[in-house]
Amino acid sequence: MARGPRKPSRAQLREQLLDDAASTALPDAVDVCVCGGGAAGLVAAICAAEAGASTVVLERDLACGRPILATGNGRCNLTNLDVRAGVYNNPAFAEEVLGPGSLAANDVLGFFDACGLATGFESEDDSRVYPLSDQASSVREVLLARAERAGVTMACAREVTDIRTGAVTFTELFSGRTGRLAATSIVLAVRDGFVPEGIDAEPFSPALCPLACEGLPFEQLDGRRADARVTLLRDGRAVAQERGEVLFRSYGLSGIVIFNFSRLALPGDTLLLDLAPLVNEERFASMVAAAGSARGVIDPAIVEVLGDVKRVSCTVVGKEQTDRAQVRQGGLLTTQFDPATLMVRDIPGLFAAGEVLDIDGPCGGYNLTWAWKSGMVAGAAAADYAKARA
Ligand SMILES: Cc1cc2nc3c(=O)[nH]c(=O)nc-3n(C[C@H](O)[C@H](O)[C@H](O)COP(=O)(O)OP(=O)(O)OC[C@H]3O[C@@H](n4cnc5c(N)ncnc54)[C@H](O)[C@@H]3O)c2cc1C
Repeated sequence: MARGPRKPSRAQLREQLLDDAASTALPDAVDVCVCGGGAAGLVAAICAAEAGASTVVLERDLACGRPILATGNGRCNLTNLDVRAGVYNNPAFAEEVLGPGSLAANDVLGFFDACGLATGFESEDDSRVYPLSDQASSVREVLLARAERAGVTMACAREVTDIRTGAVTFTELFSGRTGRLAATSIVLAVRDGFVPEGIDAEPFSPALCPLACEGLPFEQLDGRRADARVTLLRDGRAVAQERGEVLFRSYGLSGIVIFNFSRLALPGDTLLLDLAPLVNEERFASMVAAAGSARGVIDPAIVEVLGDVKRVSCTVVGKEQTDRAQVRQGGLLTTQFDPATLMVRDIPGLFAAGEVLDIDGPCGGYNLTWAWKSGMVAGAAAADYAKARA
């Protein structure tokens, strides 16, 4: 039987990407240099190049846009029609950049429509938006194609090590050599990889991850799921409440509600779980009386271990699996930036976009909305700044 061409091995792919990176020629000077070719950086570069600026992306990884591939469990929840500034840690600044109401979601959808990406909702009563292909790779590929069409030079395997007004220094990972690129405008979009001198930042810390907890027999519950209303309590006072699926793990709790609480929870906080949120106390009591336990209301395996499922509590110990956390809290203090351009007020020509700024939101497409929209603002403003000085 005839066999098709053999798939290249990982090592061969890596070699190929390194060769491609090494053969990407860089000019001595550009209008706009974007540091970091992830979600925010690619959009910033596209907007800068489409506004007529010569644009280079310096990316540490062997290819641009790779962080997008892991989003939304490989499906990329790219925005949310219900985007509101109030979901972010710094709502006033977020609103100035995103605009009021759902304007940012419209801008994001318009941008991706122009890229040729078909999008749709998770379900009829859900405002989360995904590519119709259900593949995050569609999002990455339309961005790479549009960047290429716009004339962006994507220079990969180059790690930015220093930024001074008008120049970026980087290390070529394929040769070990140091390079320097003069740029009228610089857009920083490295997520948490690099903070330039002279800019104040809150320390970065991981969030949107599971929580390690104690106070329940978690080993015995490992892998069980339940719909729950979860309340986060600090010193007996409710800090937040959300309903959704909770996943018991041997170390504590996971699931979207818990991920969202990881932005707020501190060690010592209490999580109060109602594992039968759709059944009110009175009805719950009568069902337990009829069946002799809550086995008819929720997963019997959970009832077996916990007994009471209406008021279950445990104590937060800390964050878990932080290496796979979905966002970084902290980042460059937004007070240093003009929200209309995302330029540092005291360092003309230096812009930032994406998670490197001190903005983060809950699960649901809000973090990518911030990355795309801040990329649009910073990229267009960086091009204007460079053109005005040409
Ligand atoms: C597993 C996972 C799932 C997620 N799912 C969703 C989702 O479905 N919806 C949603 O809204 N958000 C999601 N997020 C969050 C979202 O991916 C981020 O908010 C978004 O990617 C941030 O964009 P960014 O451009 O700031 O950073 P990134 O997209 O991470 O890009 C930063 C880029 O900078 C490069 N870089 C770093 N340091 C340097 C340096 N010194 N020099 C050069 N390059 C450098 C990196 O290699 C990277 O390519 C998810 C995150 C994770 C981890």
